[in-house]
Amino acid sequence: MNLMPELRLHRPETLDEAVRLKATLSGARFVAGGTDLLVNLRRGLGEPADLIDLGGVADLGSVRRVEGALWLGAGVTLDDLARHPEVLADYPAVAQATLQVAGPNHRAAATLGGNLCQDTRCVFFNQSDWWRKGNGYCLKYKGDKCHVVVKSDRCYATYHGDIAPVLMVLGAEAVIATQGAARRAKVAELYREDGAAHLALAPGEALAAVVLPPAHGWRAGYAKVRVRDAVDFPLVGIAAALRRDGDRIGELRVAVSGTNSAPLVVPTAEFAGRAWDDSAASDLVAVLSKTGNPLKTTVVGAKYRRRVMRATARQLVDRLWNEAAQADRAARA
Ligand code: FAD
Ligand code: SF4
Repeated sequence: MNLMPELRLHRPETLDEAVRLKATLSGARFVAGGTDLLVNLRRGLGEPADLIDLGGVADLGSVRRVEGALWLGAGVTLDDLARHPEVLADYPAVAQATLQVAGPNHRAAATLGGNLCQDTRCVFFNQSDWWRKGNGYCLKYKGDKCHVVVKSDRCYATYHGDIAPVLMVLGAEAVIATQGAARRAKVAELYREDGAAHLALAPGEALAAVVLPPAHGWRAGYAKVRVRDAVDFPLVGIAAALRRDGDRIGELRVAVSGTNSAPLVVPTAEFAGRAWDDSAASDLVAVLSKTGNPLKTTVVGAKYRRRVMRATARQLVDRLWNEAAQADRAARA
């Protein structure tokens, strides 16, 4: 690890001041828990002259109920998020995914905003400076060639966040603050498929909160596959939410992380009204294969990750389908 580069640290007390600084200081970066950003800076992946610490910004760390929806402040730590009684009661899949992020020490400092906005990763990028220099750097930073898709003019580094896909299947919205104003967008709209610029936030914008709509009738879950069963990013992470309508699917939503430069929603409208059987499972695997596209961005082979992605999705929907049937039976008994 390198020493931290020379930089100025700003500690705004309001979000308005934070976004004003971000808009005016060229190349400035926000830092929240620092568990993603500081590791990258110490690997020489970026040399911002200014860091804007969001840790002192009032209100970013709160969770509150507003007209039936649950507002999660971007500064809430993952530890607090996973233990919050209203999250556990109404959105257990959010707590489930959160508890699978990194390890307990990371989660004590790491924030929801930092998790959603974490950088993309690649086996040719998340390396020491001397290693990357020895390989001629790469298109994402300091170089002019991609080692994954050699003739490409864009970076295919992968988004490996665990929480975004769950928020996506629960229909959550992001509240994005800019000076004196805020806008709302679906969580999926925070991202774009470019590993070197995967966030659709303008320089003067910050993620302020995530709004979870009421979850009545939905059964949701998250399944993560990783090399080590602790402190490891997902090779693939699948989130699903299901509403069962008797012996048919009322609605099915699926999202995938760890395969592309953005977490992606899988198009599943065609499953409404069908039974969840072998034919539906094969069709889900087919649409998932068209959406998620693992490449050579991790130490584990892309072909294996594709197979794992398909099997994991099928197992997760099987589980939710059976749990929903049990819950229906229990409600009728
Ligand atoms: P920071 O490092 O502070 O920030 C991350 C990025 O988000 C920065 O670019 C920052 O500018 C931006 N940012 C932060 N807050 C905001 C905001 N409000 N608005 C706009 N931009 C913002 N992540 C996983 O999802 N799953 C894992 O399993 C996992 N394992 C890890 C294992 C290790 C060993 C390490 C070092 C990291 C791991 N991570 C993992 C990544 C990281 O720890 C988490 O994603 C964490 O939640 C990041 O949150 P943070 O507050 O520390 O972010
Ligand atoms: Fe670099 Fe290509 Fe990896 Fe992007 S996908 S980080 S450009 S090697």
